[in-house]
Amino acid sequence: MNKQFAPENDAGLAVFNRLESEVRSYVRAFPALFDRGVGTTLIAADGREYLDFFAGAGALNYGHNNPVIKKPLLDYIERDGIVHGLDLATTAKKAFIEAFEQYILKPRGLSYKLQFPGPTGTNAVEAVLKLARQVTGRSNIVSFTNSFHGESAGALAATGNKEHRAAAGFPLAHVTSLPYEGYLGASVDTIDYFKKLLNDPNSGLDKPAAVILEAIQGEGGINAASVDWLRRLRELTSRHGILMILDDIQAGVGRAGSFFSFEAAAIVPDIVTLSKSLSAIGTPMALILIKPELDVWAPGAHTGTFRGNNYAFVTARAALEAYWSDSKFEDEIAGKSAILAEELRAIAEDFPVLGLSVRGRGLMYGLVSPKHHSLPGLVSQEAFRRGLVIEIAGSYGEVLKFMTALTITETDLRRGLSIIRDSIGAVAATLEGESRGSLAK
Ligand code: PLP
Repeated sequence: MNKQFAPENDAGLAVFNRLESEVRSYVRAFPALFDRGVGTTLIAADGREYLDFFAGAGALNYGHNNPVIKKPLLDYIERDGIVHGLDLATTAKKAFIEAFEQYILKPRGLSYKLQFPGPTGTNAVEAVLKLARQVTGRSNIVSFTNSFHGESAGALAATGNKEHRAAAGFPLAHVTSLPYEGYLGASVDTIDYFKKLLNDPNSGLDKPAAVILEAIQGEGGINAASVDWLRRLRELTSRHGILMILDDIQAGVGRAGSFFSFEAAAIVPDIVTLSKSLSAIGTPMALILIKPELDVWAPGAHTGTFRGNNYAFVTARAALEAYWSDSKFEDEIAGKSAILAEELRAIAEDFPVLGLSVRGRGLMYGLVSPKHHSLPGLVSQEAFRRGLVIEIAGSYGEVLKFMTALTITETDLRRGLSIIRDSIGAVAATLEGESRGSLAK
């Protein structure tokens, strides 16, 4: 979530300031009146172009209005294809389910039932927490420090963010927050800590129904769990009969370099949540994957009017067919990931006084400013002035969050990184002026 608040200029935004709730956030950080989106370019009503290093917070992995995905949707609309379908059987839904089995599940040897909840990530999380509790008969859930799982009460209880939790207005219960990998420093093994709590009858930890986790924490500041940590968590939860829910809403659909973020660890979660980029064009859609033996739902036990967004089925299927029928797309992501990581390290080295560090995986990277928490927010504002949209993350906004479309060209990737480098230089120079030389290189 974006916490930086630039002064809102008068870019045709007066009506938003006058009538839209104070809850609005991104519009404050990026005050432009956006009109069109083409690939990785956002175009404002005044004609100004912005390079998009934000990708709809991970909902636009294939870029804006990708023609490969848009064309089948236009055809579908043109022939009066069903738009709204609850959970009725439709041809669009059938084609999506078949494609998901063919391109995603089968090649990975995965066997899951598919549940379509209401179309937000939050609703998917809400549903899986209910399901885990139903399956096990236990109420407690373990989530991890710095996690983000959504805004409704159940999902929020599993979310770390203090301000979001406070907005609930009542105590959020039945979740225990445990340290994610690295939270207590490199010397503390947080899986050992969890193991100890589970094995000690007097630890005070109520045996959880499930753990819910992100393999790469997005909103929490791009914390990427190691393969080893994920494997050991899988072993520990299996041994104790605790379900593992992998929330792949942000890190999934190619973001981490493979379709699922957990593939590198070769683990099989019991339940997986997907949303954001699954629809491939920015329309709402969510999907839950459930090991067949855990699918204990009674018919209609978790419903929602917008479970059947058929436009999303059409676009999601088109993307699976175009990008996931072979390994070409993954290879391209790996190539761009290497460029991104290398360039970010070079930027960090070029400003040694700032003490920046780099972390992440795939095309989900963070440039971390542990010494100066305000720096990423200032850099984001400066980059926006220079025509690039990028957001910040982390407990204190200390992480500049790189989330380009996976389809970004190498030229645009390098162009954006050069804007970031210049923006850091400009911010560092200002801060140096303000603090008489304590910050700049
Ligand atoms: N889970 C994760 C990992 C997320 O990153 C988000 C949103 O950022 C959600 C759940 C909630 O998804 P939504 O905003 O679609 O409700």
